Amino acid sequence: MADDKNKNNRKWNLNLNNDNPDNRRRTAYYLLMALSILMFLNYFALPSYMNRSVEEVTYSTFLNQVSTGDVSEVKLEENQITFVATDDAGDKQVYITGLIDDPTLVTRLEEADVTFSKDIPTEASPILSILVSWVLPLLLFWGLGSMLGKQMAKRMGGGAGGALSFGKSNAKVYVKADDAKTFKDVAGQDEAKEALSEVVDYLHQPKKYQDIGAKNPKGILLVGPPGTGKTLLARAVAGEADVPFFSISGSEFVEMFVGRGAAKVRDLFKEANEKAPCIVFIDEIDTIGKKRDNGNFGGGNDEREQTLNQLLAEMDGFEANKGIILLAATNRPESLDAALLRPGRFDRRVPVELPDLAGREAILKVHALNYKMDPNIDYNTIARATSGASGAELANIINEGGLRAVREGRSAVTQSDLEESVETVIAGYQRKNAVISPKEKEIVSYHEIGHALVAAKQTESAPVHKITIIPRTSGALGYTMQIEEGEKSLMTKQELFNKIVTLAGGRAAEEIVFGSITTGASNDIEQMTKMARAMITRYGMSDTFDMMQIETQTNKYLGGDTSMNVSAGMAEQVDREVLDIIKLAHEKAIAILDENREKLHELSHHLLIEETITGAEFMKILEA
Ligand code: ADP
Ligand code: MG
Ligand code: ZN
Repeated sequence: MADDKNKNNRKWNLNLNNDNPDNRRRTAYYLLMALSILMFLNYFALPSYMNRSVEEVTYSTFLNQVSTGDVSEVKLEENQITFVATDDAGDKQVYITGLIDDPTLVTRLEEADVTFSKDIPTEASPILSILVSWVLPLLLFWGLGSMLGKQMAKRMGGGAGGALSFGKSNAKVYVKADDAKTFKDVAGQDEAKEALSEVVDYLHQPKKYQDIGAKNPKGILLVGPPGTGKTLLARAVAGEADVPFFSISGSEFVEMFVGRGAAKVRDLFKEANEKAPCIVFIDEIDTIGKKRDNGNFGGGNDEREQTLNQLLAEMDGFEANKGIILLAATNRPESLDAALLRPGRFDRRVPVELPDLAGREAILKVHALNYKMDPNIDYNTIARATSGASGAELANIINEGGLRAVREGRSAVTQSDLEESVETVIAGYQRKNAVISPKEKEIVSYHEIGHALVAAKQTESAPVHKITIIPRTSGALGYTMQIEEGEKSLMTKQELFNKIVTLAGGRAAEEIVFGSITTGASNDIEQMTKMARAMITRYGMSDTFDMMQIETQTNKYLGGDTSMNVSAGMAEQVDREVLDIIKLAHEKAIAILDENREKLHELSHHLLIEETITGAEFMKILEA
């Protein structure tokens, strides 16, 4: 086996093998040679007086010496003057002094009858300059390269291997530690946990399954948006299953040299085979598992392709019953190569979606266990205020709450800390010292009340929870927070439209009160355009296009970029329809506010004074 490796090394050995004592001696020898040649040339290439000791003097001393006739030779260099003069003892001595822009110098030197010359940089010593600009850097690179190579070899653990030996796979093997994660640490995600428990169970008692003839899936792919706990789930599996757990990230296979990523895959599976039963986890598998496209010749990524091919080959190679289970995670499943997903490879796909209301509450509670929390905290309210947040964001909210409690000098995290940190995570920190003119504050008040009032006057829109005009670090000058009563998975066309009307409410208020408009609505505009577009291109909510899909989401879990798949003429019509919806919504918002001018003024004045009002206060004034 060891021999095998060495043969392999030699093929890739680019003369950088430094661990071999023979080679090391040779390297030292070359370096020494180069150095002595350099010194030798240096000595001869420079003017002779340069090799004597040099003394630095002031410019006035230099002029003085010129006038007394001590100076015999002057060389004007790029940024200094080198000159030879007789010193007090009567010996010739080399001096240098700074170069000063002195127009009289030439006359002075002529008067004193001094030979002087101006240095022409490249002519001074061509050999030296070649040495400095070419040979030295080359030597340096070479030295550095071999040093790095040596270190790499050491890190890869291939003692006998050389700099480029394809050592171990780099996978981290988890041994069950005291702080190991278990399924208890993963809140919600019940389906995912169930699927993974089965795997753990299989590894513990394979006979139960084999008796019936059931084979365990070879590969399990965890898919879902970032921060939903995919990596956490895998670590929990490692903690639950009493078997070795190899963990490696897809990016670790990405190597500079063709063939090396593939070698890592090979090593990984060799190790896994020796340790079976075991689990192999490849995080962010999309880095190596991207679709292979043969379209771009020359520009294709050979290295990545080889790595993927090796992975496919290895997956086919091991028997399901041997007890190696492959786990992988990705947030871009649509970019994976089809070959990876076919039966016999990653044949089970476990969705790890954003948590629902119950899931969010559970996640908040799991993370709260590590903090000193006020016993009266209402996690349900926080969970309702964070629709769409991932597990990672929820963990962050709890931590921000903890930080805030410390800042405020409290001994436990309170409800208000959590509510403030929800806003921090959504909108950024409060900008306490932001200077906003009274006039701007007034505009912002009207803008926010505009949103809130339009929301309140429409049926089926989420109740207003809080309105504030305290500026945030994200750039928001204020915002209106609405919280849905329960969990919503479906939205009607009317609800979507009402949301767009609510978004238009801010700008509408500015218009009818001040008769002018500001830049403050840019974020509203972005959101309402997106929603109106989705209604037409993806939700089939327009009469013209019926149930036709016009846009496809290319990146469901990452921002949801879309791509259009219709003719240019149709695209134009889509734009027109989007515009129609927006115009309609804008008009409706203006109409609602126009009908409620009194309340608009009253509420805006109240908000301007209070800066933050709750939904209850808002409703009290509205219904008074
Ligand atoms: P992913 O790999 O899906 O991008 P991670 O597993 O790295 O996400 O999650 C990041 C962090 O978010 C975790 O370490 C954990 O603190 C928190 N988290 C995410 N989902 C959950 C969950 N379901 N339960 C508890 N914590 C979670
Ligand atoms: Mg992850
Ligand atoms: Zn707004």
